[in-house]
Amino acid sequence: MQTVPLWINGKSVQSQSGRFGDVFDPALGEATKRVGFANGAEIAATIQAAKDAFPAWRDLSLARRQQIMFRFRELLEAKKGELAEIITSEHGKVLSDALGEITRGQEVVEFACGLPHLLKGEFSENASTNVDVYSIKQPLGVVGIISPFNFPAMVPMWFFPVAIAAGNTVVIKPSEKDPSATNWMAELWKEAGLPDGVFNVLHGDKEAVDGLLNSPDVAAISFVGSTPIARYIYETSSKNGKRVQALGGAKNHMLVLPDADLDLVADSAVNAGFGSAGERCMAISVVVAVEPVADELIVKITERMAQIKVGDGRRSCDMGPLVTKVHRDKVASYIEIAEKDGAKVVVDGRGVVPDGAPGGFWLGPTLIDNVPTGSKVYTEEIFGPVLSVVRVKTYDEGLDLINSGQFGNGTAIFTNDGGAARKFQNQVQVGMIGINVPIPVPVAYFSFGGWKHSLFGDSRAHGEEGFRFFTQTKVITSRWLDPSHGGLNLGFPQN
Ligand code: NAD
Repeated sequence: MQTVPLWINGKSVQSQSGRFGDVFDPALGEATKRVGFANGAEIAATIQAAKDAFPAWRDLSLARRQQIMFRFRELLEAKKGELAEIITSEHGKVLSDALGEITRGQEVVEFACGLPHLLKGEFSENASTNVDVYSIKQPLGVVGIISPFNFPAMVPMWFFPVAIAAGNTVVIKPSEKDPSATNWMAELWKEAGLPDGVFNVLHGDKEAVDGLLNSPDVAAISFVGSTPIARYIYETSSKNGKRVQALGGAKNHMLVLPDADLDLVADSAVNAGFGSAGERCMAISVVVAVEPVADELIVKITERMAQIKVGDGRRSCDMGPLVTKVHRDKVASYIEIAEKDGAKVVVDGRGVVPDGAPGGFWLGPTLIDNVPTGSKVYTEEIFGPVLSVVRVKTYDEGLDLINSGQFGNGTAIFTNDGGAARKFQNQVQVGMIGINVPIPVPVAYFSFGGWKHSLFGDSRAHGEEGFRFFTQTKVITSRWLDPSHGGLNLGFPQN
């Protein structure tokens, strides 16, 4: 069985720890690879490689850095089919969706190619007489990126193109569930001409993560994952004096007003609820229907759900399996909870007949109506193909419901009333909002991040905020004397 190696200083290195994680092909339900978990010495060696590579990378001209970024982009564009196959074989999402996530990540690479502009400082001539003031942006050093299983290519690409473009060196700790995509990208960087040690891959579990959080040589941490771990990452990194952005979980609501186009709503709810088997942080998991639309909407959603082909992502299917058996069983357990809590299971995905191997981690699209808001089905992040419907009487009731939750990642409103949409964007306590758009993931030149327990820290991913996160600013006040300087003055300059 293939063992996924670490990537240290431009080379594959097999871990000697003797600790491994199984990597499954979720559509087959079989472990097809394993990944070696780094031990203490290997964690230290990975961070050291990034530390050693930093001075030369920091000092490389912006023009040379930009050329390497462009080459990485060109290679990614040419070879992304290979990466999509890797993602599908370890995550399970269908190939077209895997390509979609690569494309969204590639957009951040394209944005980061504008690094000379984005790293420009400011200059004020003659701030005081004969005194100029200017600012420069410098990289932080070694940055750690810790990513989740659900976007093995896109989420790392939210961060590393910007970090590298800004002159930092990177140690990335991918999810142990689908680790190979990051190794593939490491090899691509090498082919693009990135110097060894600028991009390193550390595989493992909590031990590897803690190694990054506790290393004095790591200046900043970018994390994406579940809320409890995000909080831990934020607290530990802050305690250790690091800059940190920790993106957490989500429970995204779609508010449907009575004047909405219900066919558009039904299409959107199905696409956003079941795409990638609901394993997206921006998936819609709750439809909040302002009455009297719920009955008609449920009929439309149910009709569309009947057309979804579940199966092996390498075949022509719409929805693949869940990432592991443990996760599949956990998601399915919420359907049982819904029944016990008095909700109505309209479509039950537990009986799905997939176009794939019988042992795959299958769960079909599931629709649950009348979900009580006190039920765990409503309050907890499920992260699977389970769409809940909650019925409310008014816009205000729907808004209060959305604002009462612990998460604030994404939300959407469906209406034909511009005034209502405008009021919603003003009042809702959520970071990313769609208006008749179900998955409002910001484009690369804006920044991605939620509110409340969906983001710990004050910096979101990519966009100008990404460049700010990965740089620190110096302000220089300078005076070059001309022959007629004004003699001693112990006060602050006044004019
Ligand atoms: P996870 O929190 O289990 O794992 C994320 C990373 O943390 C992995 O690299 C994992 O190895 C590591 N990790 C796990 N347990 C740890 C521990 N005890 N100590 C230190 N590190 C640990 O998340 P996941 O299951 O891989 O991903 C799904 C979660 O990610 C969902 O909650 C989803 O909402 C969230 N997510 C959020 C966003 C966002 O933008 N807010 C984007 C994608 C995913």
